[in-house]
This record gives sequence, C-alpha cells and structure tokens, in this order.
Amino acid sequence: MNEWKNNLRKIEPYVPGEQSKDKDIVKINANENPYPPSPAAIKALKEFNADSLRFYPPADATPLKAAIAEYYGVKVENVFLGNGSDDVIALSFQAFFNSKKPIAYPDITYSFYPVWCDLLSIPYKTYPLGADFRINVDNYKEENGGVIIPNPNAPTSLGEGEEFVRRLMDYNADSVVIIDEAYVDFGGKSSVPLTKEYENLLVTGTFSKSRSLAGMRIGFAIGSKALISVLEAVKNSYNSYTVDSLSIAMGIASIKDDTYFKATVAKIIATRERVTNELRELGFTVFDSQANFIFTTHEKFRAEEIFNYLKERKVFVRYFRIPAIENYLRISIGTDEEMNAFLKELKGYIKEKK
Ligand code: PMP
Repeated sequence: MNEWKNNLRKIEPYVPGEQSKDKDIVKINANENPYPPSPAAIKALKEFNADSLRFYPPADATPLKAAIAEYYGVKVENVFLGNGSDDVIALSFQAFFNSKKPIAYPDITYSFYPVWCDLLSIPYKTYPLGADFRINVDNYKEENGGVIIPNPNAPTSLGEGEEFVRRLMDYNADSVVIIDEAYVDFGGKSSVPLTKEYENLLVTGTFSKSRSLAGMRIGFAIGSKALISVLEAVKNSYNSYTVDSLSIAMGIASIKDDTYFKATVAKIIATRERVTNELRELGFTVFDSQANFIFTTHEKFRAEEIFNYLKERKVFVRYFRIPAIENYLRISIGTDEEMNAFLKELKGYIKEKK
C-alpha cells in the first residue's frame, strides 16, 4: 500500500527571500528594485491588446531578442530568453553540464546552484572564497565539467574585472563557463563583449533587478551561436513558450528606455554609497558593493539577533544560516526613505545594546 510514495521525488528546494502581504513593511530582503518599471514599460502594459492573448507568443520571442541584441551589440542568434534568469540558468545546466566531472563554483554563492545540481543529478565541487570573500580564480584551473560564477557574486556583493574572467576562460577552454550577471548593472563589469572571443562563455542576465520587472520574469543569456542553439533545443524539448506575450511587450519597452534605466540605477548606487558610509560609522564592516545590496557584519552584534530585532519592527533583511557567513546580513537597497527607516531601527537596536 502507498507504494507510489516511494517514487515521489525527495528534494530540498531553494528558499527565496520571504514575501509578505503586509503593505507597511520595509522589504529589503530579496534584492528587488524599490522603483517602478520604466514608464514606457507601464505604457506598454496599459496599451497591451488583451485579445491577442488568444494566440501563443512567438515561440522564440524574437522581437524581444532583437531589442536585447541591439542593446548589447550582438546578433539575434546570440540571445536566448527565459522565464527569469533562474529558468535560463536551469536550462543551461541541462544543456551544458553533462560531463561526469563535477561542475565548479564558489562555496558562498547563489544558493540555487546546488539545488539545480541535485534536481538534475549534476556532480559539483565548490571552492572556498578567500578570507576577503573574493573568488580565487586559480581554483578553477582544476579539471571540471563546467563552471558557474555570479559576477558580482551574491551574497558578498563583490565583483571581478575583465582580467579575472579572461584567466577563468584561459583555464577552462574545455568547459562551458557561465557568468551570472544578475547584478552587473549596479557597478560591475559585464563579460558580454567577451562572448565574441570565447565560444564557450555564456553570460546570463535579468530584468528583475536593474529593470524593476521581477514580477514579469524575464531572463536572458548571451553567447555564441554554438551555445545558444543548444539552449534553444533544450528549451524546445521542455516548454516552447517560456516568455509570454506581455513580457515580450514590456521587456522591449523597458530595454529601449535607457534614460530611465540609467537614472534608476544611479539613484540606487547613490543610496547604496550613503548607507554604506553610515553603517561604517556605526562600526559595521561593509564590503564595497557592486550590486543592489550590501553585505555587512559587526564585531559586537550578532547578525541573527539584528535580523530578528528588525523583523519584529517590520524591516525585513536577509540572513543566511550558513556557517561561513552566519554573522552577516544581506541588505537590499531600497528608496532613501526605506533605508532611513532601516537605519533608524538599527540605531534603536544599538542603543538598547549599550
Ligand atoms: N542569479 C542570482 C545570483 C540571483 O541572486 C538571482 C535572484 N534571486 C537570479 C540569478 C535569478 O533572478 P531572476 O530569475 O529573477 O532573473
């Protein structure tokens, strides 16, 4: 009896930052953008012809691919689209990581990578970050079945430059290397231009962070035709329509509005720098972030205690119960008002402790 239960998949899923229905919380726990999408994208939403939803979207979402190709100076055949970059990366794991050798990535990084490895039975090996939390590129000399590195890395917020990526590629001529650029627009250095030089380099990106469209689920990858065509084949063996018609319309409007994009990113960077300085004045160690979040620790206070204290006062930040970073907090950059509310509660905590 109940034999079927033995055949149910046992898997430990990824846990995203907590969402809340409560409207008056300060939600700086999921690296979302505090500003609305581009007015051009909102206009595209309002003017969207709902009747057209009777039809399937173009299966390869070419109009949005063309807009992304134009923005990055690549060809349409070099662009792949998915339902958020999580979808793009999960499909990339299936498309490229089919070796018996383990794939390589840092021990402290995006916690979805091991989940996909488990789901897809991909062996993996992690390499420790240095004491300064940077990635040691020489670790990735070791033979592997593929490499994935977020640049900037999460949750450390630290980015690497072109020299790092070139060395990584030199060491890994026999593997597909994925650079996950979810946060690159906030001050990182994009490796998209390098995809023209390295046929085995795939760069993934998202509209969720810098373009304020996390709810629309638009992710993309840029790479050689050799890589993109395999991604297309894997996607078309699983779900032809990963990008819906409305996402295509809003995505195009968003990427064409460079003025709004630049202004929003600049505001977030300015707030990040201000909050970084204020936290340092309060005795926190804060890494030099190239992302829309900061990663911080305090010698005297327990991160988990601060996390709980803030949560009780409706300020949600992110805490990871992972040994190497168990005294760190990841704080997304909200509006100036939200960050002021966060700083006020944090100062309240420090005062109570004294
Ligand atoms: N990569 C990294 C490093 C991330 O932090 C995230 C966001 N959780 C993603 C990819 C995926 O973002 P999305 O699916 O919204 O594009």
